[in-house]
Amino acid sequence: MALIVQKFGGSSVANAERVMNVASIITQTYSAGNNVVVVVSAQGDTTDELIEKAMEINPRHSKREMDVLLSAGEQISISLLAMAIEKLGFPVVSLLGWQAGFNTTSSHSIARIKNIDKERLRNELDKKNIVIVAGFQGINKYDDITTLGRGGSDTSAVALAAALRANKCQIFTDVEGVYTADPRKVQNAKKLLEITYDEMLELATLGAQVLNNRSVEMAKKYNVELEVLSSIKRVPGTIVKEAETKEKMLVRGVTKDTDVARVSIITLPDTPGIAFRMFSKLAASNINVDIILQSVGRNNTKDITFTVQKSHGSLCKQLLQEAFPDITDDKIFIDTDVAKISIVGAGMETHPGTASQMFEALFDVDINIQMIATSEIKISVLIESKDADKAVAAIHHSFFPQD
Ligand code: ASP
Ligand code: MG
Repeated sequence: MALIVQKFGGSSVANAERVMNVASIITQTYSAGNNVVVVVSAQGDTTDELIEKAMEINPRHSKREMDVLLSAGEQISISLLAMAIEKLGFPVVSLLGWQAGFNTTSSHSIARIKNIDKERLRNELDKKNIVIVAGFQGINKYDDITTLGRGGSDTSAVALAAALRANKCQIFTDVEGVYTADPRKVQNAKKLLEITYDEMLELATLGAQVLNNRSVEMAKKYNVELEVLSSIKRVPGTIVKEAETKEKMLVRGVTKDTDVARVSIITLPDTPGIAFRMFSKLAASNINVDIILQSVGRNNTKDITFTVQKSHGSLCKQLLQEAFPDITDDKIFIDTDVAKISIVGAGMETHPGTASQMFEALFDVDINIQMIATSEIKISVLIESKDADKAVAAIHHSFFPQD
């Protein structure tokens, strides 16, 4: 008998009709002779609404109380979904994170799953129950409720699939799968039938909002085969798994990330240790630096430019000016009107010319490249944000010409 983990995101359970629809998907899987464990997120915008309520009462709330509050969103959806399944006449039980054995680290709001105590889950499955588990939450060693960070239900689902050695983990969402570009923006975006973990990880990190990147990391680590598919339209989705040795696709997708700020510092002394001191300062404040560019030294000075998350731009300036009094206002510049456009594909490792094709596509539509960064399976460029959609369309057209 197969064991299948199914995860449904907030939009898939947003109202009564959608909850009934999800109940029918689950009970069909169960009726086909499978054990089914389900993970659900909070309905629709519930999590955002709960955050708003907290901010209204006390913007300086403790993270502990916030976790108590936010975990309630998933408590609502598991119970409603279980009731829907009861209505269809199937045996079902809903479990909160702690009841399902999710032990996490103690850090509230960004907890990590340490292990899953499977006893209760196994008992319920032995009783032939469909088990509905609240995503995004667990319990720490002090018996306090924790949450796993926004979008954490994907990780709950993959962790369950790994712990229970499920045959597969299906992630149901409001899109039909993973696309070569955002289908709402790019007309000819195509759904991918398969994608590797590494490609999916890059795409998830670069702004394709289908899967949480931590869940992809975990799926890769424990070799959990994922399927991303629509809960509304019953068609095959995208399978995420290890690369086959057969031909790898040159470019799998094009992404855009507008949550970027560019920080430039000019005329720094051209001496050893500058980059080290600057970036360790930023790292100490948990600022993630992405693309870094340093100019060749000239006249004993050099320039350094790098990108960070948009909201970290001004903090960067403040921290660097505190640490280096030489960096006066006329030497540091923050630009938030930038976007990072990337292409991802395992095939570029062995295929020269991919970068030049991307740059040519941008040149053809007259878009200037400010910065470039590459890895084995990714090329990113930084451009002006007003050109972002045009750039994605042009690059997509170049790599996926209309058939
Ligand atoms: N409800 C949580 C959130 O909105 C967890 C999730 O959706 O995965 O972030
Ligand atoms: Mg949600």
